[in-house]
Amino acid sequence: MALPILVLPVQQQRYSCHGCGNCCRDFTVQLRPADLDTLRAQQWEARLGHAVTSEFRGTTYLRQRDDGACVFLLDDGLCRIHKEFGFAQKPIACQLFPFVLVPDDARTRVGISFACQSVRENKGAELRSHINEIDRMSRAVPETRAATYTAMLADAMSAKDGELDALAQLLDRMLSRDDLVMRDRFDGLAWIAASLGRAKLAEVRATRFRELVNVLVNAVPGELEHLPVETVLPKQVRLLRQAVYARLEDVQVGTAKTKGRWRTVLTQLLASRAFTRGKGAVPPVAKGLLVGTDFARISAIPALTESPDRDAIDQLLTRYARATILGNRAWGAGYYGWPAVRGLQALVLNIACTAWTARALAAARGHPHATLDDVRDALGRIDRHAGRAPWLGSVGERLRLEYFRLDDGLRRIIRDGI
Ligand code: SF4
Repeated sequence: MALPILVLPVQQQRYSCHGCGNCCRDFTVQLRPADLDTLRAQQWEARLGHAVTSEFRGTTYLRQRDDGACVFLLDDGLCRIHKEFGFAQKPIACQLFPFVLVPDDARTRVGISFACQSVRENKGAELRSHINEIDRMSRAVPETRAATYTAMLADAMSAKDGELDALAQLLDRMLSRDDLVMRDRFDGLAWIAASLGRAKLAEVRATRFRELVNVLVNAVPGELEHLPVETVLPKQVRLLRQAVYARLEDVQVGTAKTKGRWRTVLTQLLASRAFTRGKGAVPPVAKGLLVGTDFARISAIPALTESPDRDAIDQLLTRYARATILGNRAWGAGYYGWPAVRGLQALVLNIACTAWTARALAAARGHPHATLDDVRDALGRIDRHAGRAPWLGSVGERLRLEYFRLDDGLRRIIRDGI
């Protein structure tokens, strides 16, 4: 029996594809055996005179052009497969994007990726209007409709019935409050994430866990005033820049094959060291996203709260945080199988990385403040890899989060950037 589908319950979020083609220029699409059968039946190789797939380390992908765009992307921004054979004949990953289907033990939740421009701009139809298409697509990927994951609350601690739902609903209630200013909303999230990381959760299970989260949620923002944090430490800023680099890092399959393993690794190492040092020019990352700026100019861009667009930025980041939590993308099967407490801390780090990247984009574009467009573009880059790139679910990333738990690290990087 396939699990029932629960479409993201964030009324404010909308989506329809507007054909910008950004996802076709950006993503490396992994193919399933059924996709390969469909492509073969469409006889592309005979018609185009070249291969349309590419092998890399035992996996088959849609082939990309030298600029990283999909071979099927037409000049008008449309997909050639879609144009000639229809939407349902595209590889399933292309059909599903930007929906992210995450099963838990009772249902398949439909999250949404903010790597999509229409999602960030909140353009299109209500999400529930896509339910029939989502149902059809998910049946082509049976693992999205089966319970395969043991829900975890914290390390080595399985979640009891209702604990993760209670956590998600109470956090959503806090994030939805319109009496909170942006900085308190996300500082509150960081404080709750850090507090749950310190709590002896083995002693507060089931209804007592719900009561604990309820107390924390209701304590925002009053408690934050009584627990002020110092300015961010240089070592925390250094670690934040490293986290940003890990999220922007983007080696295309074609580039890795052309340059070879060692040259690719060396380039990454040099760029990573430049982000760690935080001095001089920003090295090339994410197809030249930050080209022409340096770390000193980025530091001089004020926090997002100082932006004239702060209300719209608050709405965007709030939608993102709510959609990530309610769409099961913050923990569990949607985020490397991580327990809820660590996943929540990773979400806070992703928000801090978005703020840093938005300020970096503002510096690169000559803006005195981060604009709404800077934040949209930054969020698109940061959410692009979340839950997908293996290195963001690695031991190194866990250690990074452990470190941010010290000295109020999560709260300090949020208050510094937001
Ligand atoms: S990024 Fe979003 S709006 Fe643009 S083509 Fe892809 S799915 Fe459509």
